[in-house]
Amino acid sequence: MSSDILVVEDEPAIQELIAVNLEHAGHRVQRAHTAAEADALIREVRPDLIVLDWMLPDVPGTVLARKLRADARNKDIPIIMLTARAQEQDKIEGLDAGADDYITKPFSPKELMARIKAVLRRRAPQLTDDLIKINGLELDPAAHRVSGAGTPLHLGPTEFKLLHFFMTHPERVYSRMQLLDQVWGDHVFVEERTVDVHIRRLRQSLEPSGHDCLIETVRGAGYRLHP
Ligand code: CA
Repeated sequence: MSSDILVVEDEPAIQELIAVNLEHAGHRVQRAHTAAEADALIREVRPDLIVLDWMLPDVPGTVLARKLRADARNKDIPIIMLTARAQEQDKIEGLDAGADDYITKPFSPKELMARIKAVLRRRAPQLTDDLIKINGLELDPAAHRVSGAGTPLHLGPTEFKLLHFFMTHPERVYSRMQLLDQVWGDHVFVEERTVDVHIRRLRQSLEPSGHDCLIETVRGAGYRLHP
């Protein structure tokens, strides 16, 4: 499991501790010291998860969390709030601001890593290494393998990511724009019709076992995986 994680923390020692542990766990880490810095980085590359300190030099982390939750492009980024405050009321305020979880300083890096894993599994299952099976179609993220009814299927890297996303989010319809955000990530230079091209390739790759019929076109809305 390798994700892009943004650590927003103004205390250098704590930021270093978190970043080193995340990198050790195989994640790619970006660092920000203020909410403004974080905001600029998020606009450049959408992270998979944000570890967000409450007490920042410019504005409180809760303000940034609320801003992200109000923004269509960034409202789904999982956030773990980090803070020295431990009172019940503060926790409620943090969760109200849109945080997915909350961790109180001092914390053990092991606990933070476990929380990050749990939040990603819940909010972004396409980023985990869990094996998924739907109607005889099996996708193994760790081995990067797909098989249909026991037959190995050959997918390109983008089709693999696309299928992984669909299989972890069955039945829900996604627009081309949403798929670009979720599967391509930073899609500034990618056109919406690119999605159609890769959907076509994905269906072709699934044809040998007849699983191409799982990927449905929903007219005027987008695509979905319908088991
Ligand atoms: Ca701080």
